[in-house]
Amino acid sequence: MSTENRQKIIVANWKMYKTIGETAEFIKELIQELSEQSPSVYLAVPFTAIKTASDLAEGNDIVIGAQNMNDASEGAFTGEIAGRMLKDAGAKFVILGHSERRQIYKESNAFINRKVKRAIKDDLQAILCVGETLEEREEGTTQEILNKQITECLEGVDVSELNKIILAYEPIWAIGTGKTATPEMAEEAHQFCRQSLKNISNKETADSISILYGGSVKPDNAKGLMEQPDIDGLLVGGASLSLDSFFKIVNDSGSESKK
Ligand code: PEP
Repeated sequence: MSTENRQKIIVANWKMYKTIGETAEFIKELIQELSEQSPSVYLAVPFTAIKTASDLAEGNDIVIGAQNMNDASEGAFTGEIAGRMLKDAGAKFVILGHSERRQIYKESNAFINRKVKRAIKDDLQAILCVGETLEEREEGTTQEILNKQITECLEGVDVSELNKIILAYEPIWAIGTGKTATPEMAEEAHQFCRQSLKNISNKETADSISILYGGSVKPDNAKGLMEQPDIDGLLVGGASLSLDSFFKIVNDSGSESKK
């Protein structure tokens, strides 16, 4: 399998943490730490901090994005935000289908699919999250669930546009729980996800899509996960909130591209 074109990406998902001031402070310090050898660093910041973050990140190899968006381009949807508004504020990517959105706000694969298509139209890179619950893993339906999420969330996306997608495998039982999938378990799931991507496109396209692992990534497990051939990056929640632990993860994840 050719992995040469796959970008290594470390994504921070800050969830509902950090004010504008805290964001600015973090980014200024992060800029001092990064080097040309660092993998790509993406920060999914709160909506209110996107503009400040993207102004600071300009020219500094840090990519700023959002954690969610609506599927409509505009309209009477109180409290929602449109992709083009994110773009206007400086976002380059958006996380879609995070398990907290699926579980707490009952987002379906069909709704996420509409958001993915809208994000592509709005010229935002979409980080599509998929993952099984503990119950599904124990029942042995992990692959079925992953395949369903990938197929349904990407339905109708043209093969030529799949390069605008980054996939994130996030086993729900590992998010915020301190339980991480072993590198071998994660690799097995990533290989399966890549096969699913191949089924809806072709080998070349599937091999070029970065697949990230997320779920209790910490400085002490990042390296082992990143050594796996199909793990192209990490989606980090809790451990991305402190610069010290986030930078250790970035630093342990090796250089720019997956060799
Ligand atoms: C996440 O928010 O996507 C995540 C993986 O969180 P944590 O790293 O805290 O498990």
